[in-house]
Amino acid sequence: MTGHAAPIDRVLREVDRAADEIVAFTSEMIRIPTVNPPGEHYEDCARFIGDTLRRLGFEIEYFAAEGRPEHTARHPRLNVVGTKHGTRPRPTVHLNGHFDVVPAGEGWTLDPFGGTVRDGRIYGRGSCDMKAGIAAAAFAAEAIRRAGVEVPGTIEVSGTVDEESGGFAGVAWLAEHGRLSSLRTDYCIIPEPLNVDRVCIGHRGVYWFEVAARGHIAHGSMPFLGVSAIDGMSHVLQAVREELIPALAARRTAVPVVPDGARQATINVNGIFGGQPVDGIQTPCVADVCRAVFDRRFLLEEGFDATRAEVEALIDRVRGRMPQVSYAVKDLMVVHPTRTPDDSPVIAAIESGVQQVLGRTATRVASPGTYDHKHVARIAGVPHCVAYGPGELEQAHQPDEYCRVDDLIASTKVLALAILDLTGK
Ligand SMILES: [Zn+2]
Repeated sequence: MTGHAAPIDRVLREVDRAADEIVAFTSEMIRIPTVNPPGEHYEDCARFIGDTLRRLGFEIEYFAAEGRPEHTARHPRLNVVGTKHGTRPRPTVHLNGHFDVVPAGEGWTLDPFGGTVRDGRIYGRGSCDMKAGIAAAAFAAEAIRRAGVEVPGTIEVSGTVDEESGGFAGVAWLAEHGRLSSLRTDYCIIPEPLNVDRVCIGHRGVYWFEVAARGHIAHGSMPFLGVSAIDGMSHVLQAVREELIPALAARRTAVPVVPDGARQATINVNGIFGGQPVDGIQTPCVADVCRAVFDRRFLLEEGFDATRAEVEALIDRVRGRMPQVSYAVKDLMVVHPTRTPDDSPVIAAIESGVQQVLGRTATRVASPGTYDHKHVARIAGVPHCVAYGPGELEQAHQPDEYCRVDDLIASTKVLALAILDLTGK
């Protein structure tokens, strides 16, 4: 009677049958060290994903990020999109994963690019963030095909570059060039590692800005003849610590950002540089310039304009305290917060899949950081986007990063059911 099993059961069974292939595909991707920066081996990985998707019945397109300065002969930015046509052209469900990984860093007890499978885990840089997610996306679609289920819509799986550095040559490029667009894309799922029973509906906003303090150089033996820019910056840091941070800590968003500490507005000093490099030869000089870069994460309820105005007002107060120093604020990067509509079918589809596969209710979360969702929502204009995929958020960017095999298989099933749901099967 196997041929007469319900389509959902047949699809889930095909995921189980493909388990070794899904793990092997993940391991193979980990063995291509797509380290960003600078963007190593992107072409190898894009071609490998493309070849695999072609073997799984997708039509393949490659998109080099022409026009982006980071797309160079030495480090080409190559993206791959696979398409499976169903019995009708729409709806289109697009599953996107980035294949760049952050540098391995210190502290590994095994080869970060070995793709080792041990004790039910796949180890390696990019295992959870997010090569397992790409494998889950590809095999979710493949399980549907192997189960002989005809989908009344289009399934797309893409592998893209540079998410870790902003995604401008990756998802943003595809969106700017119309390949990812509300004109052709109905739903988008990004299998980032947010835990197998959580669906991520957006993220906070990001405002990176630089503050430059300028004083007046003088001989270090007579500092009273100069104006120290470092002293000037210390007033900024003090105001941030004593005035801004307590104000931010009092603001909580209604968006379910995790972990709980990220439910409030935050600010971090990314870096600071003033005067002479401390590991260089010293000369007696009063520091005339000091610059610092700040990372302000703002809430949907705050909005960017108020966030920026608050920084300007703070600098204005500091100007009053140290009038001999001049201060300039420069915007470095702005990412607006995103939030998927509560009643979005893509949230419902993942929640239903989690319920069926894991037998428990999915938790809605939002990300403390930002990811490619912003480009899907803001540039492509596709509101129905979530992140859902295998792997634990806390594993991302850690030494001995791993993804559990059972999470990988479970999330592949959830994605397969979500595709069936969204395409109306
Ligand atoms: Zn990621």
